[in-house]
Amino acid sequence: MTLAPFRPFVVAIDGPAAAGKGTLALALADRLGLPHLDTGLLYRAIGKLMAIRGFDLDDAELAGEFARALDPEDLKRDDLRGREAGELASRVAVHPQVRAALVDFQRAFAARPPGAVLDGRDIGTVICPDAQVKIYVTASPEVRARRRTDELLAKGRDVRYETILAETKERDDRDANRAVAPLRPAPDAVVLDTSDLDRAGALSAALAIAAAKRTAEG
Ligand code: C5P
Repeated sequence: MTLAPFRPFVVAIDGPAAAGKGTLALALADRLGLPHLDTGLLYRAIGKLMAIRGFDLDDAELAGEFARALDPEDLKRDDLRGREAGELASRVAVHPQVRAALVDFQRAFAARPPGAVLDGRDIGTVICPDAQVKIYVTASPEVRARRRTDELLAKGRDVRYETILAETKERDDRDANRAVAPLRPAPDAVVLDTSDLDRAGALSAALAIAAAKRTAEG
């Protein structure tokens, strides 16, 4: 008897900033018993490491060197989660040299049995085009900016909704219009609009999508 080769179960979650994909990916990974990789952290770490050393983030060759030298330990830095690191990330993420250097790390993470949940911008389109489950999580820019503003206000930060909305649109624009791996749903992704869903609602919708695929895979 020949056994079919084991195929890791890969869930690709993509979507714009603040659509809730990080929280969803984490919860989904937990429920499915799979490891999770927040791929935004890779770009955030490169942007941050370059910025603190005073390097020019528009220098594509140098950014590529930082990407090739990235150490998984760098992802544990505690200054990667904020808005500033997100901005730095989206600037280095436009460089093909940076994206190319990060492909193998992400694919190796996904290929390890039993599989993984990866979230980012190009997981279903470029990194794991064969992922069994592809979900494109989105919400209107206004809803995303409102959520982000409320989150920051709850942390005691002095922010204005209008500023966050402008930043959200600017980041969407940069991510969607870059030449390499622009943000867009894979043709076979299920689009999940979370504008009218809370976290629990988004998780049950995503679990239903994953369950349907798992059943179809046999
Ligand atoms: O998801 P997160 O907000 O952490 O991503 C920060 C930035 O990193 C994004 O705005 C995007 O420019 C970039 N990114 C990317 N590809 C990914 C993940 C993040 O280009 N897979």
